[in-house]
Amino acid sequence: MISRYRRGVVWYRLDLRTADHPALTAASRDCDLVLPVFLMHEHRMRHPLTAPLRAGFLLESIAALQRNLERLDGGLCFRLIPTDDMLMSDPLAQYQDAVCTFLREVQADALYLTPQVEPGFVRQDSAIRDWCTRHGVAVHAIESTTTLPLASLAQQSGEPYRVYTPFWRNLWGRWQADPPAILPPPRLPAGSADWIASVPADPLPTLHSLGRNPGDAATNLTGGEGAARRQLTAFLEGPVADYADGRDFLGRDVTSRLGAALQSGCLSSREVIAQSAARMWQPGSPAASLEKFIKEVAWRDFAHAILWHFPETVRDAFQERYRTLTWRDDPIAFTAWSEGQTGYPVIDAAMRELGATGTMHNRARMLTASFLTKDLGLHWRLGADWFLAHLIDGSLANNTLGWQWTAGIGTDAAPYFRIFNPVTQAQKFDPHGVYLRRWLPELAHLPDAVIHDPLRHPAGLSYPAPIIDRAAQRQLILARYQQSR
Ligand code: FAD
Repeated sequence: MISRYRRGVVWYRLDLRTADHPALTAASRDCDLVLPVFLMHEHRMRHPLTAPLRAGFLLESIAALQRNLERLDGGLCFRLIPTDDMLMSDPLAQYQDAVCTFLREVQADALYLTPQVEPGFVRQDSAIRDWCTRHGVAVHAIESTTTLPLASLAQQSGEPYRVYTPFWRNLWGRWQADPPAILPPPRLPAGSADWIASVPADPLPTLHSLGRNPGDAATNLTGGEGAARRQLTAFLEGPVADYADGRDFLGRDVTSRLGAALQSGCLSSREVIAQSAARMWQPGSPAASLEKFIKEVAWRDFAHAILWHFPETVRDAFQERYRTLTWRDDPIAFTAWSEGQTGYPVIDAAMRELGATGTMHNRARMLTASFLTKDLGLHWRLGADWFLAHLIDGSLANNTLGWQWTAGIGTDAAPYFRIFNPVTQAQKFDPHGVYLRRWLPELAHLPDAVIHDPLRHPAGLSYPAPIIDRAAQRQLILARYQQSR
């Protein structure tokens, strides 16, 4: 077979896998030699919005990718792009320069990449594409970040979906009619390993050498494609059975915990859905739970589609009428929220879970986000940034959608007047206080009947008093939303 290109570079970012990676497959088919590369920008790894646990997960995932690519007769060239203090005013330009310099250095005539939806990536890709056009490098940007190509997930009119349910119906209908094939890992063309070995590379840094310290936070999640696949299989063989009924309950561990793996691209969402869907048709399978799970994974697609179509939502409310909403400035309240010292046990437990593990239950994310925006009246971006600085699965797309949804200013938004009550929500979704006891040992001795509202019991009086009077605050917050409307 005649190859179209001599030297193809596969530029890895948040697509750290070998299976179901159409860009890697296409490069391996079309090029004489293939060189996969990860160009790590020190600036991004040191950035305060990159949680140290997430940076650690990424490093593990890159190491695993390197091993996996070696098994495919290739390898991964790793380079660390140091932060250039002279260019700190424009780190994006510095990184773009490094990518183009690399392509020139290895004399690539083709570049393969998986497009990402974050506005920074989109701008960067466009600049690199221009450079490639000027320098005779063919660019193949092949989507696989979402389940189906983003542009194809549109209404008949061509307009993007703004509401989840029709988006889901479209996606699921098309999937069922024509399930996409999951690509196996490709063998790299003969000679690729020698080419890769001849290109100067850096050793993988450690969290420590990058100056990142997770402090007391620790995770039992492991980065890498193999670990992610084992995690998916274990989930589908057990916990998924309780997913439909149990996923909202704070003390039950019945969710997949695949967020970090999906965010780093260790697994494609297509593979997750394909494996789940395949089990749906098996006799005796928990079909309702499997469909519910697939539907949640599709929320990720929706979040990515929204960010792609509406990049301004990173900063501004999706609903224009809320762009003039005024927020309170109260650093003391923010500190109490972030440290889990609000006097509302479920909020405090959730924030301590985040600090200790870099993750948080979905319902707890909704409750803490609602409390910050609708009870404390603080800007959603303060909370969203705090989440990104701590979450191991931090994702600009999912996080922005989740915060705006909860604050009542996004797509499908919870109406502005619906404010979660942290006490009744905890009574409903953690009736026996399993979650509260796990994260608030100081309340562990209280009976179930009062643990959600400790000041009602003499033994709970040492718990911090609530930092706000929610009923009084409610009127002020609602007035602000009404004014903005
Ligand atoms: P599972 O229930 O097992 O779901 C599987 C996967 O589906 C998730 O890993 C995720 O990729 C996707 N998913 C599930 N629910 C959602 C959702 N509502 N929106 C988008 N994708 C979803 N998710 C993140 O991955 N990163 C974030 O930074 C993030 N921030 C959030 C902030 C707020 C305020 C809220 C309300 C939600 C946020 N979510 C975020 C969505 C959701 O809470 C997490 O995806 C989920 O808790 C991760 O746990 P899991 O992997 O066990 O989920």
